[in-house]
Amino acid sequence: MEVTPNHTQTVTGWAAMDESGKVEPFIFKRRENGVDDVTIKVQYCGMCHTDLHFIQNDWGITMYPVVPGHEITGVVTKVGSNVSGFKVGDRVGVGCISASCLDCEHCHRSEENYCDKVTLTYNGIFWDGTVTYGGYSNMLVANKRFVVRIPDNLPLDAAAPLLCAGITVYSPMKQHGMLQSGGNLGVIGLGGLGHVAVKFGKAFGLRVTVISTSPAKEREARERLKADDFIVSTNQKQMQAMARSLDYIIDTVSAKHSLGPILELLKVNGKLVLVAAPDQPVELPSFPLIFGKRTVSGSMTGGLKETKEMLDLCGEHNITCDIELVSTDRINEALARLARNDVRYRFVINIGGNSKL
Ligand code: NAP
Ligand code: ZN
Repeated sequence: MEVTPNHTQTVTGWAAMDESGKVEPFIFKRRENGVDDVTIKVQYCGMCHTDLHFIQNDWGITMYPVVPGHEITGVVTKVGSNVSGFKVGDRVGVGCISASCLDCEHCHRSEENYCDKVTLTYNGIFWDGTVTYGGYSNMLVANKRFVVRIPDNLPLDAAAPLLCAGITVYSPMKQHGMLQSGGNLGVIGLGGLGHVAVKFGKAFGLRVTVISTSPAKEREARERLKADDFIVSTNQKQMQAMARSLDYIIDTVSAKHSLGPILELLKVNGKLVLVAAPDQPVELPSFPLIFGKRTVSGSMTGGLKETKEMLDLCGEHNITCDIELVSTDRINEALARLARNDVRYRFVINIGGNSKL
């Protein structure tokens, strides 16, 4: 293990050591709490499909050992002398970003997610040159800028996935004007990101259609998530019946797929935002694009200002995620189920949720 002078704190976590798709207990070091840092006792961490992509090295960029986890909630145990916004005992969260340059046009606008020096919460390189380790661990040291407060009325377990799944769909929804009531929103892929997009859509008065490969999700989608419509993407009749009916689509499908049939669901001038990151390029045939003057764009998580705004809105509307809580000895079981699309709708690891501070 690389030794860095101020990396003196011993932490227990779970890391993938290779591409096998599994994690194992892993002891490592974190830095001392610096003047601008907040130390967090991690209580819960959501399991994003991105974790699985990194664990399996789907994108070819994993630096093993990788300690995944970027949907982190917990309680502050220490604050640095320059930190005024947090105190010991505060309920806080950390999402996908742990550092950025702080001085480019994007950082100035609190779009840290688009800074070209953005450091991810895990598998990133921090300011001091060390590799970042994420929230599948019992303690985190985070720079104050990248720490957010969790509204008092939201439980720390069901709120954890808001730190990635929530902000990742909220940011493009806001950017593309989807939060005005009355529009028709399509959500493709009813997983962690997708189910939060449905909840946001309903909270903001949209008509929401789920487009899924899993007929078994229909009842819950309509009854629990209050989706207005549910269609199965392999059912030609259902797809044709919905042609040219949607203003917007958020695409959260984690596997390779074609945007062609999905684009046909958009009205003329409709917009599709791709937030999913499959390991193979998506197919983008030109005809559905040009015949409908449609737009395809992408979006990568969200900045800190928007993350705070999203959390406040979730507090106001009482929006949390539908989760399956798993203990730390069952992370591999949950990863295997996530890989076979068997989760309703986010696994959250109970890391220290029951323990006293
Ligand atoms: P997830 O919970 O696994 O959900 C993905 C959904 O995609 C599944 O529930 C399933 O929905 C659908 N799906 C899965 N395999 C499929 C297949 N072979 N064919 C068709 N549909 C399939 O994943 P997630 O955590 O929501 O993440 C989704 C994607 O977004 C991942 O690629 C992740 O890396 C990416 N992501 C991007 C950002 C960003 O900043 N842009 C942030 C977080 C995550 P149905 O059963 O309804 O078909
Ligand atoms: Zn994520």
